[in-house]
Amino acid sequence: MRRVILIKYGELSTKKANRNFFINTLYQNIREKLKNFDVKIHKDRARMYIEFMDKDLDFIKNIIDKIFGIHSYHIAYIVDTDDSMIQSTLLECVEKEKFSTFKIETKRSDKNFPIHSQDYNKVLGGLLLKNISNIKVDVHHPDLWIKVEIREKESFIYYHSYNGSGGYPVGTQPKGLLMLSGGIDSPVAGYLALKRGMTLEAVYFEAMPHTSVEARNKVIQLSKKLAQYCPFIILHVVNFTPIQEEIYKNCREDYVITIMRRMMYRIMERLVYKYQGLVIVNGESIGQVASQTLTSMNVINQVTSIPVIRPLACFDKLEIMDIARKIDTYDISIIPFEDCCTVFVPRHPVINPRLDVVIGEEEKFDYSSYIDQAVESVMDIVVNSEEEHKFSDLL
Ligand code: ATP
Ligand code: MG
Repeated sequence: MRRVILIKYGELSTKKANRNFFINTLYQNIREKLKNFDVKIHKDRARMYIEFMDKDLDFIKNIIDKIFGIHSYHIAYIVDTDDSMIQSTLLECVEKEKFSTFKIETKRSDKNFPIHSQDYNKVLGGLLLKNISNIKVDVHHPDLWIKVEIREKESFIYYHSYNGSGGYPVGTQPKGLLMLSGGIDSPVAGYLALKRGMTLEAVYFEAMPHTSVEARNKVIQLSKKLAQYCPFIILHVVNFTPIQEEIYKNCREDYVITIMRRMMYRIMERLVYKYQGLVIVNGESIGQVASQTLTSMNVINQVTSIPVIRPLACFDKLEIMDIARKIDTYDISIIPFEDCCTVFVPRHPVINPRLDVVIGEEEKFDYSSYIDQAVESVMDIVVNSEEEHKFSDLL
């Protein structure tokens, strides 16, 4: 008996015109993630299935759980579409299971198959009742809900089903640049953006020597976690030290965070152009800190016309923490290393900054040359979900 992983597509089934693009992207994503396994992947417009080696099943399931665009998947027995083959396979696999009630649900997408679904439910149910003792049918709460899908050449029999992670396949949307810090929020924002099918690269602002190499490593570890959901993550590291020092030297203390974040957005805009992205993504959440009041967001956002996607805008911190635990970034995020936003925190950051004040403060130094310098000196790190890192520059 041959087992396969039968995959049912997620939300993409509603996107009629783009269906092939979605399916092909999902197919490529699965192929890329399973490249180290001995598998064969088959696809058509309705389904995809993977032939695998039995010993790899648990590893493969673990990988599939993190691929977006999958509604559900099933460990299915595959047989030629032939009545006697289906009957013998069904009996052989079900005999190994422990159950006292069952239900059979046949779906006949091959209308050439001579027996109607309802009739076939009875045929197959009768077969089990005749051959296995002490079992009965329960259509409402069966121990074993057996699905039989009759397709043109091959049919599937399954009763072990798993939820997929939903969303759209990564790569079905163009690129966004994620502002990735070492905190709890931004990896969660990145995860949610990937789930919408976005192509994602990450940007980390560091302020060495005020921030440490450990703080950078933390962001690399977080990128590794995100890379489980996409082929890999390119992490762009921005040297933010000169700008930050200038801000602290020249500007009003209560406005330094507002100005720092405007500088970050200015650099992000330049990087979006440099790396051919379309949007900025970050982990801001309304009201979380002084720089995330709506007034602050408005004043900070004025420096760019690039859309800023804030997946967490309306999430509670506790909801964000739940997702962080689920995607396994929480324990990394809470390791206490200083971030460039935390090393120079003013005692009383302004909650409702005024645009005219900000502009006046920013005129106190020639920030544009610092921004050019920051954009030019970006260092790229390619982060895979496995251990292998490729450095395209010195570390
Ligand atoms: P926390 O989980 O502690 O809130 P945070 O990273 O969300 O951490 P915030 O001060 O709330 O910290 O920053 C808001 C957003 O700005 C972050 O979610 C992140 O997207 C971005 N950001 C902050 N600091 C950096 C940084 N050093 N590099 C890149 N992005 C940053
Ligand atoms: Mg935050």
